[in-house]
Amino acid sequence: MEDMFRFADEFGPTRIIHIYRPSLALKAIVVVDNTACGAAIGGVRMAPDVSAEECFRLARTMTWKNAAAGLPHGGGKSVIFGDPRMAAAAKERLIRCFADEVRDVTDYIPGPDIGTDEQCMAWVREETGRAVGLPSVVGGIPLDEIGATGFGLAASVDVAREFIGLDLQGARLAVQGFGSVGKHAARFLAKKGAVLLAASDTSGTLADASGLDVARLIALKQSGRSLRDYDRGAKLAADAILDVECDIWIPAARPDVVRSDNVSRLRTRLMPQGANIPCTLEAEQALDARGVLVIPDFIANAGGVICAAIEYRGGTQRAAFDYIDERVRANTQAVLEECRRDKTLPRAVAQAVAERRVRSAMQMRRWH
Ligand code: NAD
Repeated sequence: MEDMFRFADEFGPTRIIHIYRPSLALKAIVVVDNTACGAAIGGVRMAPDVSAEECFRLARTMTWKNAAAGLPHGGGKSVIFGDPRMAAAAKERLIRCFADEVRDVTDYIPGPDIGTDEQCMAWVREETGRAVGLPSVVGGIPLDEIGATGFGLAASVDVAREFIGLDLQGARLAVQGFGSVGKHAARFLAKKGAVLLAASDTSGTLADASGLDVARLIALKQSGRSLRDYDRGAKLAADAILDVECDIWIPAARPDVVRSDNVSRLRTRLMPQGANIPCTLEAEQALDARGVLVIPDFIANAGGVICAAIEYRGGTQRAAFDYIDERVRANTQAVLEECRRDKTLPRAVAQAVAERRVRSAMQMRRWH
């Protein structure tokens, strides 16, 4: 009993659902965290090593992110245990079966996340009538294809750079995780003049002090190859990205990649968090003590969910980009100004803003 409620606090989670279908070897967990602001939106992650705790923490992050972005949505998340590179037919069966299980969880709207994509969301929508991050042919704004989150990260950097006196022209950039978020963040920042010194994926770190060609790297990844297949630059171990001296270091891979035991390796000035919960709290405090400005995940990477919420209401791609630009810039500015004034951690300020909104929405609910 105690164990089942180990994540419970004043905000949620309202439901944790374990899904098990032995005939398909489907094992999944859905966490619907807080729905005071509206139905929960949150991605479906597929990976072999996910856990209930990771799912809960990501769902909670979505509660804060959606509230901070002013969206009429609460936070949720789901994880499916499995290798996302499994054969296409097996993946479709698994995703459709998962969708079948969440059909009646009507206050949870699934979206894409690591290991799932727009195609998966089309299957989920067909089974349940709900999903965001859909392919454009079925009315979606393909948020990963257009780089909604990367666009928001670049907007956030554009605001934060003024707080540390950083010129984006020639700013040195390193990106951990050259996937949907990382590659578009690099693309939008390169447009503003930043130079990509290093990028990593599961195949390793690719580094070139004279700068990497972002468009060529994106084409390489789109052709299904890895960064190590690039014909220039040094090929290093995946975690060597931590050692790259740069001005902007973007985590865009997995949670907890920066921890007390490796935070001292980072040599950067600004960390806009593309990934969700990429740092442990201790690591974030250590970065702050060293003067590294961290833009917390749920402020910096809200672009994707903003796009998803606009899509859910039938809005256009242009409306999504306008909303992301306005909201991410305003939130970054507000959070960093308050930090400068009160000498507090950016995450603490951002959290307080989001908590205030969720608490006030909770007051309007019947069972508050
Ligand atoms: P993705 O699967 O498209 O890309 C992830 C990338 O990280 C891949 O290139 C993979 O090779 C790489 N990677 C995985 N483990 C790594 C490691 N240990 N070292 C280096 N690289 C590694 O996923 P994504 O959609 O880009 O999401 C990345 C992160 O951003 C996740 O934490 C996700 O929750 C978060 N996020 C995504 C969105 C979105 O719109 N897609 C929005 C907000 C937050």
